[in-house]
Amino acid sequence: ATPVALTVATDALARIGLLVTRGHAIETLARADLFAFDKTGTLTTGRLTLVETIAAPDVTDALRLAGALEQASEHLIGRAIAQAAGSARLPPVEGLRSVAGRGVEGHINGRCLRVGNRGFVAELAGPAPDWMQEDAVRTNVYLGGEGGWLAQFMFDDDVREDARDVVSRIERDRARVVILSGDMPAAVEAVARRLGVSDARGGLLPEGKHAAVKSWQAEGRTVAMVGDGINDAPVLAQAHVSVAIGSGTELARTQADLVLLGEALLPLWKGRLLAGRTLRVIR
Ligand code: ADP
Ligand code: MG
Repeated sequence: ATPVALTVATDALARIGLLVTRGHAIETLARADLFAFDKTGTLTTGRLTLVETIAAPDVTDALRLAGALEQASEHLIGRAIAQAAGSARLPPVEGLRSVAGRGVEGHINGRCLRVGNRGFVAELAGPAPDWMQEDAVRTNVYLGGEGGWLAQFMFDDDVREDARDVVSRIERDRARVVILSGDMPAAVEAVARRLGVSDARGGLLPEGKHAAVKSWQAEGRTVAMVGDGINDAPVLAQAHVSVAIGSGTELARTQADLVLLGEALLPLWKGRLLAGRTLRVIR
């Protein structure tokens, strides 16, 4: 690779909204034959809207408890809950800890509470109550703890406008596309169907995403991982080439090989084309 050609390509990529932060990224992006995408905040906008809350006994109280637990959260779900709860009359929390890919735990009025995915809350709250709803499409988050379940929060999150287009272009370019998500399998499936992705894996912890990438690498695949850095920093680091969403975490932006600068995913595809042309010229 001549340095001049790479410099020219780096400038051109920056102009279309894909920032190159590591020298090898152009070549690896062109060679990647498997693209793994995180779901929340990557294929979706990550602007979660709380569309329904079911709570026993009281919705406002439940939101206040969840909001108190999520006050300092950087997770998109946590931020949406904290915003919906507002900052007024939040109870004090002790022993706050967050568990990557599962949720947040803390003590309020001496009671240990959790907000997060169903399995995480169930460990403390026990069997599901009658009022709990099955919702296969939305992202569900639960609140409960010692003494039982308190609430189910349901969120909508729009798929990015160009996500379907980008996915199909990558597949037509003979690369595999897979979704790796920590969200419930049913919600991940719903997004996968809308995007026409046949391989979508939900319910994954950060270690699970990491293990998936390692196993593809062991098969000889060149893996590109696209994520926002929330619970996917380890898998971004493991991939041959990592692409961070610009609105994601600072860690992801500073560690990734490529950074998408705007709201769109299309620069990733354009970047791959340009990277491919650059390599063909170089060789
Ligand atoms: P994704 O892979 O789709 O980006 P994450 O791995 O970030 O999802 O999160 C997986 C799941 O863990 C979420 O869908 C949610 O149920 C739960 N979760 C993680 N962090 C939090 C949090 N701060 N508050 C509530 N739920 C959380
Ligand atoms: Mg995410």
